[in-house]
Amino acid sequence: MNDYLFRRLDYIKNRITGKRISLFLDFDGTLTPIVSRPEKAFLSYQMKEIVRRLCNICKVAIVSGREIGDIKERVGIPECIYVGNHGLEVEGNGLSFKVEGAVESRGELEKFLREIREAVREGNIRGAVLEDKKLTASLHYRLMDKIDIEAFLSLIRSALKPYLEKGLFRIVEGKKVVEVRPNVGWDKGKAGQWLMMQEGFKESIPVYIGDDETDRDAFRAIKGQGVSLAVGPMLEGAEFHLRGQGEVEKLLRWMMSLLSK
Ligand SMILES: [Mg+2]
Repeated sequence: MNDYLFRRLDYIKNRITGKRISLFLDFDGTLTPIVSRPEKAFLSYQMKEIVRRLCNICKVAIVSGREIGDIKERVGIPECIYVGNHGLEVEGNGLSFKVEGAVESRGELEKFLREIREAVREGNIRGAVLEDKKLTASLHYRLMDKIDIEAFLSLIRSALKPYLEKGLFRIVEGKKVVEVRPNVGWDKGKAGQWLMMQEGFKESIPVYIGDDETDRDAFRAIKGQGVSLAVGPMLEGAEFHLRGQGEVEKLLRWMMSLLSK
């Protein structure tokens, strides 16, 4: 079976025509191209307009590993619902939610970040971007030389060891990034399921578009219930994929014309 989405448009069309859908859009690598540093990712004017128009015809949730304030500011559309820190916080459309256990783990995460910063300085590792997102942390190595990457990853492994032994953190490796999250049994998938029980989302069909390992939790969560689409190479749990981020705009335009009929 061909799993390239633009060869299967008729199938998707049959699944969603005449139905109410809820659209879940990942941000980095889905709505915006992957960039060398996280602060350089911006939503294009065209993409912003499409997302804004989609908000008028269906529920739209922006799902990201970023901190909620950061993602809200980068998207800047008041009608969207925002899911930050890999699902640990949700805001928008009258909803406001934070996973309590994650808030409680903040002290441990702060301590870990201090240790990592210190180790990076002592090890003289250049190009590490250590992002403190309050409830989670992202340790980026996109800007690093190969030799430094190996040293950085081994340094991360040893710094994490005591926390993992105590079962405090959950680690997910993304695109040139190690994501450190509190081990609270909550992820993008759980946040998606929670949203699907809220007013306006209930009894709609979820369509989830994402590009990274962390989106697989969401793909799994909507299996059998909605449509899961990977951006770039096929990801486990997704039904179909696009060839790359450059095709997302085309897909959203197609969905918009289908849903506005
Ligand atoms: Mg992404």
